[in-house]
Amino acid sequence: MNKIKQLVFILMAVTLTANAQDIRNNPSSNHGNKFEQLGTILPSPNEYRTASGAPGPEYWQQRADYDITCSLDERQQVLTGSETVTYYNNSPDVLTYIWLQLDENEHSSINNANYPLSSSLAKSYSISDLKKLEENEKVDNGYGDIITKLTDATGKPLGFTINKTMMRIELPTPLKPKQTFSFKVNWHYKISDRMAMGGRGGYEYFPEDGNYIFTMTQWYPRLCVYSDFQGWQNHQFTSRGEFALTFGNFKVQMTVPADHVVMATGEGQNYPEVLSAAQLARWQTAQTAKEPVEIVTLDEAKKREASPSNATKTWIFKAENVRDFAWGSSRKFVWDAMPAYVEGKKIMCMSAYAKEAYSLWRRYSTKVVAHTIKSYSHFTIPYPYPVAQSIEASNGMEYPMICFNYGRTEKDGTYTETAKNGMIGVIIHEVGHNFFPMIVNSDERQWTWMDEGLNTFCQYLTEQLWDNKFPSKRGPAYEIVDYMKMPKNLLEPIMTNSENIENFGANAYAKPATALNVLRETVMGRDLFDYAFKQYATRWAFKHPTPADLFRTMGDASGENLDWFWRGWFYGIEPCDISIDSVKHAVYDPEETVKRGLRGDKSNAPAKPLVLPFEDVSKIKNREDKQIVFQVDADTSLRDFYWRYDRGIEPYDSTIDASLAEKPKRTTDPLSKEEQEKYSKVHLYEISFSNKGGLVMPIIVQFKFEDSTTETERIPAQIWRHNENNVVKVFLTTKKAVSIQLDPMRETADIDESNNYWGAIPPPSKFAAFKANAANPRNGAAALKNPMQISNEQKGK
Ligand SMILES: [Zn+2]
Repeated sequence: MNKIKQLVFILMAVTLTANAQDIRNNPSSNHGNKFEQLGTILPSPNEYRTASGAPGPEYWQQRADYDITCSLDERQQVLTGSETVTYYNNSPDVLTYIWLQLDENEHSSINNANYPLSSSLAKSYSISDLKKLEENEKVDNGYGDIITKLTDATGKPLGFTINKTMMRIELPTPLKPKQTFSFKVNWHYKISDRMAMGGRGGYEYFPEDGNYIFTMTQWYPRLCVYSDFQGWQNHQFTSRGEFALTFGNFKVQMTVPADHVVMATGEGQNYPEVLSAAQLARWQTAQTAKEPVEIVTLDEAKKREASPSNATKTWIFKAENVRDFAWGSSRKFVWDAMPAYVEGKKIMCMSAYAKEAYSLWRRYSTKVVAHTIKSYSHFTIPYPYPVAQSIEASNGMEYPMICFNYGRTEKDGTYTETAKNGMIGVIIHEVGHNFFPMIVNSDERQWTWMDEGLNTFCQYLTEQLWDNKFPSKRGPAYEIVDYMKMPKNLLEPIMTNSENIENFGANAYAKPATALNVLRETVMGRDLFDYAFKQYATRWAFKHPTPADLFRTMGDASGENLDWFWRGWFYGIEPCDISIDSVKHAVYDPEETVKRGLRGDKSNAPAKPLVLPFEDVSKIKNREDKQIVFQVDADTSLRDFYWRYDRGIEPYDSTIDASLAEKPKRTTDPLSKEEQEKYSKVHLYEISFSNKGGLVMPIIVQFKFEDSTTETERIPAQIWRHNENNVVKVFLTTKKAVSIQLDPMRETADIDESNNYWGAIPPPSKFAAFKANAANPRNGAAALKNPMQISNEQKGK
């Protein structure tokens, strides 16, 4: 190797290393992987899940049917149950054990998952703080599931192992494909005070009248999901990542104090036995009512509160094809109902609430339930269940056909607009969960966003259809900006496991909801998006979808390659920040048509960049490869033509050069008068944009003209596909622009709008003024003014 060759080689190596790093870290690289195929990081399609995102020809899922009897001991706050479970093995696999979830163990001090979080020294410690640090979790607090009996259908005991919140049952004989296995389990647990211990259910005690509201959730041992993509989903319940559940049919009989009202998943089977004659008559009236009808009145509830019954009654409910079953029980409940109709099918919409919430709930809850069912049915699939219920409780949580929602009035029955909208928002959200994940049954323990994100998106659509001025917090792009602009070490992708998310609400609810809204309004358009989203819901209703099934369906059904979108919004953490860096303006010049005017502005052409001379490493190696030279000598055809003629191996044909030299002449036809007239009025603007945030997004450019009219050009995100950092684009307008603004409708979640302007400063929008004042009432005006001043100073005119 001579000296020159060595030098060339070293330069090249430096260049290659720099390039490889650029792609990962350095925004000065013009091309990372933002538009590359997503298929390389999605699971391979197979006979269970197709490449189109649909269930495959061999798709299967398990089923579990439950027959449960239970009794609620109000005085001791204990629930005791006995259940017969029939498990259907629809998988192609032989099972030797099955897994059940004992979610109530989250409250046990010895059987909870107890995954620690990091901690640091506090300024001071109370004795109870120190006791907690002293591993007091080893003392049994008496909460959690107690399994008293577990047998097969013939009464033969079954072996089982409890691992924290999961229980493995040993099958007496292997369960083959298409076989069923029935077993019986008896259990009881101490119901927790949900106000003191947290969680999604338990009891709330009302000291003023001495009564309880019981919300019975995750209350029976439940089958884990066994699937083609995961096997057994038996990741521990840490009270964060929610549930993965198998569909099945339920029959549940609950014995409760005789004056309680029970609201539950499914349809009541024995109302004539548990309701008074008057209540039963009101139930019949409600079937065809136009407004909610009280089946149990406020007056009845108040009388029951005053003199609790010592007797018991048994309520019976049945539900088909549900993934879970929850119920509420209290003598405090007022119950109202009215029907809603979806594609001609009647759905009884109902609410139950205590006097503490009466004036707010009586007015809105059941109507919001009906509106939610109709709105979601429009965007996804027609609501398939016979009832939909909203039950008042201290916080919101969702189950099939029933959910628990907050929203109480002041003592005098009045309420604020905030309380009202908070209640309406949470009812829409929790009722909406019927669709995601109760029907489109994703795995919540792995992917919180798959139900919360999709549901929050539909919640936003539904809120806006309920009230055009509804103050939705999650969905509009500009509402996610504060999260997206956080330091990168505080962010994680949407595609993060439920247990590991730092900013749970922003990451798993708001960001995916916003992403879908951006996809719908700004990227795909409503027609394409709505069709594809409906397709996803239809394909995966009553099935178990994965993220890939959603990503694939949205592209497959719309004809839009959205790989870049999923990469940026779901796999990445970069925000959108597009800036206008410079603007060049050109007008028609009849004197210099060829040299300067419309036919090309040579003076503006960028200078040729200085490139150090180097040679490609493959060329050098090829020349030095003795084996290749040997082959040439042996007259093989391994070398290409130019290698051969350069060495006189092939005769050189000089006519080729001559033909290449004959370049086609450009004709410069003179413009007609009409054309001259026409083009003398147009303006050309060459705008240089840079992608400062990293997230590739459509560029929305609004021109404002001297006559105050505007024109908006929408450039699809694909403009960034050759250079993800900088693009230059020429726009033709028929009037002279006085200002240019990016994303005038704030639909891209651009985190720095100070670099979105060129030219005259646009007046502040009403929204901007409102936001600035809301954020800081004292100096709102100053806060509003600053970005404009900065833009003026930076951009000039
Ligand atoms: Zn939710």
